[in-house]
Amino acid sequence: MARTVIAGNWKMNKTIGEAVAFAAALRKALADKPDLPEIVIAPPFTALHAVSAVISGSAICLAAQNMHEAEKGAFTGEISGVMLREAGCSSVIIGHSERRTFFGEKNQSINKKLFAALRTGLNPIFCIGETLQEREENRMEEVIGAQLKEGLNNLDDSDIRRILIAYEPVWAIGTGKTATPAQAQEMHRFIRNWIAGGHSKELSEETVILYGGSVTPQNIALLMSQPDINGALVGGASLDVESFVRIVEYKSTQGV
Ligand code: PEP
Repeated sequence: MARTVIAGNWKMNKTIGEAVAFAAALRKALADKPDLPEIVIAPPFTALHAVSAVISGSAICLAAQNMHEAEKGAFTGEISGVMLREAGCSSVIIGHSERRTFFGEKNQSINKKLFAALRTGLNPIFCIGETLQEREENRMEEVIGAQLKEGLNNLDDSDIRRILIAYEPVWAIGTGKTATPAQAQEMHRFIRNWIAGGHSKELSEETVILYGGSVTPQNIALLMSQPDINGALVGGASLDVESFVRIVEYKSTQGV
């Protein structure tokens, strides 16, 4: 049975001061709350170290939004996994659709980043998803299948056990258009079956598959009621403490 994880991707939002204030408020809001999912927040690089100090000793984990595949060297503007570990990260988002669209990341380089993250001791959140055109052409399975095959190429079961997969249909990210629970479930089932086929049924059942794309306090409970949805990667609605807390507490708030 897969764990439940709610992760917040802040993208290029919040100064160090704003990030620290958010982390402190989140820690306070969730203190002593029972039965919570695993919680991850992904601030921008500049705020990682300061946020790490604020959440230290709490149940909140720290993720970065991207990394370079090399450990160090002449890669101006880039950040390595070793640096992220030192800043306090236990996790890193790899292959987000904004990285693929705006920065030209391809499955092959994403595969190298997954290797590098694992080698450094970071647990990757590996993002995949189809565009609107690909969905309209009914090519979702072909596209997601290729992203899985090429992205996870040469990774073994022990590597994949440490990876969270985030299914994020590109047409649903930041658009206010959520996939219906049935559409999300269908693709999550496809992903789980793909892992069962290429690896093992046992591994597929343990794999955490997050849904991402305009998740809100209003729609989280219905999405989470689907058997193959193990959590969410949340963008816009993770930027406000109250909204993120309501998503994290989806079991008790039920879309209020
Ligand atoms: C994301 O950035 O991964 C995301 C899903 O964004 P949003 O929730 O704003 O659609």
